[in-house]
Amino acid sequence: MVRSTDWVERTFGRFAWRDHPIKRGMIEILGEWKRHNIISFAPPFELRDARGRRISVIHCHRLLAPALRRVFADLAARRIEHLVNTFDGCFVARHMGWDPRRSLSRHAWGIAVDINARLFPFGSAASQDPRLIAAFARQGFTWGGEWRTPDPMHFEAVDVPQSPRHLDILVDGERVASGTLWDGRAVAPVREIAEALGAAVEARLTEGKIEIHTPGGDC
Ligand SMILES: [Zn+2]
Repeated sequence: MVRSTDWVERTFGRFAWRDHPIKRGMIEILGEWKRHNIISFAPPFELRDARGRRISVIHCHRLLAPALRRVFADLAARRIEHLVNTFDGCFVARHMGWDPRRSLSRHAWGIAVDINARLFPFGSAASQDPRLIAAFARQGFTWGGEWRTPDPMHFEAVDVPQSPRHLDILVDGERVASGTLWDGRAVAPVREIAEALGAAVEARLTEGKIEIHTPGGDC
């Protein structure tokens, strides 16, 4: 899947630009767009670039940062952060393929990341680890490895997943607890809700169980 430039501009903003006077393939973004939209954050685990230099900050679009951070958190939680051998950039104000005759790259909006560039160079048919592709896909990134001219180092945003949203949980009109909406699922505290419904809750955490005893139930 690829999104149109129109979608990218509607979602992440439009900016004026001119070609960089010296650096071929780079552009200069004019006006305030960059200041208002490109933010930086520290990676949650050690990342290195292709020269082995440690990456202290990642620059990306403010609307993408939560999703990108969730990708990293997901990799860390699954203990597969080693699948990111090198981190080869997110926000880079440039044309596609560093070619000034081509359109602007999604990197110019800070909504694409390159990973393991040396192992998975542009045009190669090599496939990144499916677990890495899946971790990005869960957060709205498509993978460039399936394009007509494959770009297997490249992941780009085709969706902007919502950050968790606050939920008020009501029983018969009365607020009994708060939860969050996460990936379309309501995540809410069991005890507050069960007790508001008149049930007793027994936490058997060593067994990995929470048991709910309903008022008329056989306990
Ligand atoms: Zn890329």
